[in-house]
Amino acid sequence: MSESIFTKIIKREIPANFVYEDDDVVALEDINPVAPVHILIIPKKPIPTLNDASDDDENLMGKMILTAKKIALEKGIAEDGYRLVFNCNEGAGQTVFHIHCHLLGGRYFNWPPG
Ligand code: 5GP
Repeated sequence: MSESIFTKIIKREIPANFVYEDDDVVALEDINPVAPVHILIIPKKPIPTLNDASDDDENLMGKMILTAKKIALEKGIAEDGYRLVFNCNEGAGQTVFHIHCHLLGGRYFNWPPG
């Protein structure tokens, strides 16, 4: 399978505004933000969708969520509230098939979403 755009970003072949990186995950600003804070938390392991995550990925998935929480604190949106979103497959709006978590904050979000 060809490399996702996120793998190219992780390899610094395409530029992005990184806000965090460690051995397992990166976090970077979304190129088309839908909220004042819109960060993508992306594992270096190129899992295409949440459906493809296995029990072996349990720690990695937890790390993505806890990384999002830490960034929410750093960005000052934790108290007011924020939303984490995993879009899984086209029916949910997934466009990049390399699993990622959207961290959205800095504005009010309706529930249920549209
Ligand atoms: P999805 O729709 O798959 O859940 O989310 C993919 C996200 O990746 C979208 O919000 C889109 O704006 C973002 N995105 C797509 N291409 C790029 C890129 O080249 N750079 C960055 N920083 N974000 C991207």
